[in-house]
Amino acid sequence: MEIEVTVQSQKEFDEAIERYIASGYVLESNMGDTAVLRKKGFKLWIFIVLLIFILVGAILYYFLSDDNVVILKKVASSGRYCEKCGSSLKEGEKFCPNCGATINSNDGSSANMIDDNAINI
Ligand SMILES: [Zn+2]
Repeated sequence: MEIEVTVQSQKEFDEAIERYIASGYVLESNMGDTAVLRKKGFKLWIFIVLLIFILVGAILYYFLSDDNVVILKKVASSGRYCEKCGSSLKEGEKFCPNCGATINSNDGSSANMIDDNAINI
């Protein structure tokens, strides 16, 4: 922000300079009939309000940010595998959970035997 102030006499000119210096301005230059005085336009309350906004925003972000959740399941394997797709089967399952193929209800060894027969034929 820049304002221009005009005075009528040397006395007023000197008084105005003293008045501005008293209220925090720094005399940058004085060429006798023109003086430049400067003061930082910084306002502490605006600085604090902005700081609070940023702080509140950061805290809200911390509490509102979603959790990343991984659900890891360990399934006990029966040691048997689907003949069609090879996915592992649980005890007593009649259908493959992956491809839906009918599972031979006997134990693993008979399933292997079926495989062996298929190869032998
Ligand atoms: Zn399958």
